[in-house]
Amino acid sequence: MKNVIIGGGISGMLTGYELVKKGEEVLILEKEEILGGLLATDTISQIPIERFYHHIFKTDKKAVKLIKDLGLIDKLKWFDSSMSIYFDDKFYPFRKPIDLVKFKPISLLDRVRTGLITLYLQKNRNGEKLSNIPAYLWIKKYGGKQAYEVIWKPLLVSKFGKYYKQVSMTWLWGRIYLRASSTEGQEEKLGYLTGSFGSILERLTDKIKQKGGIIKTDVKVSKISRKRSGLEIRYNDKIVGTDRVIICTSNDQMAKMIEKLGNKKIQKKLNQVNYIGAINLLFSTKQNLVDYYWNNINDMKSPFVALVKHSQLVGKYNGNHIYYLGAYVSEEDVLFSKSNQQIKQIFFDYLKKICPKFNQKEVKEVKIFKSSRAQQITDTNYSQKIMDIKTGIENVYFLNFSQIYPWDRGLNWAIDKVDELMELL
Ligand SMILES: Cc1cc2nc3c(=O)[nH]c(=O)nc-3n(C[C@H](O)[C@H](O)[C@H](O)COP(=O)(O)OP(=O)(O)OC[C@H]3O[C@@H](n4cnc5c(N)ncnc54)[C@H](O)[C@@H]3O)c2cc1C
Repeated sequence: MKNVIIGGGISGMLTGYELVKKGEEVLILEKEEILGGLLATDTISQIPIERFYHHIFKTDKKAVKLIKDLGLIDKLKWFDSSMSIYFDDKFYPFRKPIDLVKFKPISLLDRVRTGLITLYLQKNRNGEKLSNIPAYLWIKKYGGKQAYEVIWKPLLVSKFGKYYKQVSMTWLWGRIYLRASSTEGQEEKLGYLTGSFGSILERLTDKIKQKGGIIKTDVKVSKISRKRSGLEIRYNDKIVGTDRVIICTSNDQMAKMIEKLGNKKIQKKLNQVNYIGAINLLFSTKQNLVDYYWNNINDMKSPFVALVKHSQLVGKYNGNHIYYLGAYVSEEDVLFSKSNQQIKQIFFDYLKKICPKFNQKEVKEVKIFKSSRAQQITDTNYSQKIMDIKTGIENVYFLNFSQIYPWDRGLNWAIDKVDELMELL
């Protein structure tokens, strides 16, 4: 085999597609029963949908180009975004500058400071200079203590859990800077593919297979070793030989796989990156619970941090509203190991508190999805932890979302990394 790709998420699938286009032999090995990794889909109300909420921004030019190249552009629709912050028993609209002016939970002085720092971060092109400063300290200093407690701290804790104090200001800058660029006037548009982003994976699968590529699911790669004739990949109880391997899994998985290749320095570097996991509860109901698409739940006692009303963005599915309740939770957190039944009850009890009209009996369908490697922790010396695509181990390449920085990891940047890889091969 010329190329073995480990991991059938978007990075691995796209790498496979680019290689078969060049006429190369490809074998993709994916440990789960279905392809897609964090972008994998399921169904709700008989309609395909992502396990974890997804949309793209106007700035995601590479994602749009891929969608076009795959012949899916007519399915890409742009929708008006809407957002709120839930605080102290109320959903406050939070999209336009005027919403900040009216946001009474913080003092007028802190509202002005929040407006000014947001503007500064939107206009500043050199956010990488802030990389050694913890975001929470910068925000507290310049945005005011009250604004930090009400707006920013919940944002950091919600995304990074126990690691929130380590997160670099560059990461926060990247989010605000890019988000501003994707806004037209005061309106932000979000893109969604009718039929789900899973259509991208389906098209990639078809095209890889048409060109002779092989895709195997339900196969977990355990070891890579070197033989005189090349590399050997061990998965389940099988072995396959290859000239080149491209590993598209999380860093810790990579570190385990390359143990036999004997490069302790690389293994150590890979293991320096910490991850946080995610839980998404997806449900359908006839009930209209909120008026906004994206709702940040800024209550530190809430078991979930985002209430995402998918149907607000794209419309109802077979007459039902579709919601996600999303949490970033570390694998060691007790919530992560709770049963789906327990998670459902914990999430729904809290939902009832913030949306008193929520009636669990009216819920049609519920699905719960977990990933233990959902987001890398972009701490203050993160740029030094990033592993190069070209590892230094002959014919072994790494490609994953931990290499995406300072931008927030996502579909667009995964495509960007695959482009980088192709230039190296
Ligand atoms: C809650 C949430 C919301 C998100 N929202 C958005 C969004 O709105 N827009 C956006 O653009 N992006 C979003 N993302 C990010 C996006 O989903 C990811 O950046 C992208 O899917 C990562 O793809 P990947 O292939 O790099 O990694 P992954 O999807 O993690 O793929 C890695 C694959 O490797 C496999 N694997 C691991 N170990 C092995 C092994 N030993 N053998 C074989 N296979 C193995 C895994 O099963 C997995 O399929 C979101 C992510 C989450 C968690």
